Amino acid sequence: MKRYPMYVNGEFVASESGKWFPVYDPSTEEVIAEVADGNAADVDRGVAAARAAFDTGGWPQTTAVERGRVLLRLAEKIRQNTAALAELECRNSGKPIVEAEFDIADAAACFEYYGGLANKIMGHVNPVPDNAISLSMKEPVGVAGQIIPWNYPLLMAAWKLAPALAAGCCCVLKPAEQTPLTVLTLAEWLAEAGVPPGVVNIITGFGETAGAPIVAHPGVDKVAFTGSVEVGKRIMRSASDTLKRVTLELGGKSPNIFFADADFEAAVDGALFGVFINQGEVCSAGSRILVERSIYKKMVEAMSEKAKKIRLGPPLERATKMGPLVSKEQCERVIAYLEVGKREAKVAAGGGRAKQFGRGYYVEPTIFYDVDNGARIAREEIFGPVAAVIPFDNEAQAIRVANDTPYGLAAAVWSRDIFKAFRMVKALRVGVVWVNHMQPTFVEAPWGGYKQSGFGRELGPWGIEEYLETKQVHINLNEQPMGWY
Ligand code: ADP
Ligand code: MG
Repeated sequence: MKRYPMYVNGEFVASESGKWFPVYDPSTEEVIAEVADGNAADVDRGVAAARAAFDTGGWPQTTAVERGRVLLRLAEKIRQNTAALAELECRNSGKPIVEAEFDIADAAACFEYYGGLANKIMGHVNPVPDNAISLSMKEPVGVAGQIIPWNYPLLMAAWKLAPALAAGCCCVLKPAEQTPLTVLTLAEWLAEAGVPPGVVNIITGFGETAGAPIVAHPGVDKVAFTGSVEVGKRIMRSASDTLKRVTLELGGKSPNIFFADADFEAAVDGALFGVFINQGEVCSAGSRILVERSIYKKMVEAMSEKAKKIRLGPPLERATKMGPLVSKEQCERVIAYLEVGKREAKVAAGGGRAKQFGRGYYVEPTIFYDVDNGARIAREEIFGPVAAVIPFDNEAQAIRVANDTPYGLAAAVWSRDIFKAFRMVKALRVGVVWVNHMQPTFVEAPWGGYKQSGFGRELGPWGIEEYLETKQVHINLNEQPMGWY
């Protein structure tokens, strides 16, 4: 059994407690590795290393060009090892291998993007009414605590590490306890790529014991979190004690809205892809499917027919379109929601655990229809392959129902009428809107939510902004004394 230590101050180390925790292959339910079980003492070590690297180690003083090169070397390492990383991601998370390959390529692209952006961060000259030069300069925010979820393990690590390093920050990153293996593999290449000791520290462990101490630590300047709304709220509360900068990318109950004039075949595919990709374990999953009444019945039927044929299977098989859910706990949570759904609405497809494999946390792609937007399955994030289909009668009603949620991460609109589609784009209170598509995500474009889906934006130039402070500099050009006194 392979043991994965943590990565602190440029070295692989066991936890201070000497404890290890198991990680699983959710398709076999077997333990595949053991990982160092970190707690507050390990966080102290990680933060001390990051603090030293930032305050006296010279990382913020390296040139932006040099930091960019480091990121490009990391990207190259990821690209060279795509097959191995994808297989490890696939085994540990349960996602289909083809999707894992996309994720690894996206992680490399994220390092490439910020590698290129590092030396394009610019300040301003401010036109003040004085004989002076007024500047605003961008500087790194300091030590960043970064806590990430299990649905896109290496990709989420890339979204956090790449902009932070480009900005000149030092990082203490905690992967999810379910899926720490790929980022620990990345750690093996950090030194060779030119990341000095202490600049990146990977602390493994559980949320309460290893995540919470990062958020509370006075040596951490900023916390970037992706995960559940519930934990996001706790993080914001805890971070307020030390007034840390906080960015939160939380859950959603994103509406995928279909008008009768949409291309029907594209609509059916788009509805299924929106909610079943990555087994529905996606923060922007199109889990509320709003369908115009005149095509509602036909759409529910076509979706269900196709959903029943979606190929569930071992994630390493290339034909597999849906693997198991990530963990026993997540599987039980989703199954509990299926029971709730059966009381609240009608089942058109799925509705239970897929037992044909004899083992593994497989859940059938499930479609509930005639769902009321007030039902729990329409209001609460399930984070699994569960769709709630809701009919609507007109555009105004579609907008009302779509926005009637505490969340505001994403939405999609399907229509061939550009006036209607663009009216919807403006009316939807969300951070991301797709038109005639759902889920494509690009490192060049901003990502983040409105309302209780969090705040702050990742990716693109917005992503690096969150790791920068703005310093005002005033340079007096009057050589004479002020003569005030
Ligand atoms: P899920 O419930 O699906 O696991 P979470 O939001 O709990 O989603 O987990 C996302 C990340 O947040 C994980 O890395 C987890 O360990 C971490 N986490 C969980 N609870 C806390 C907490 N109280 N403080 C900091 N991090 C936490
Ligand atoms: Mg949790």
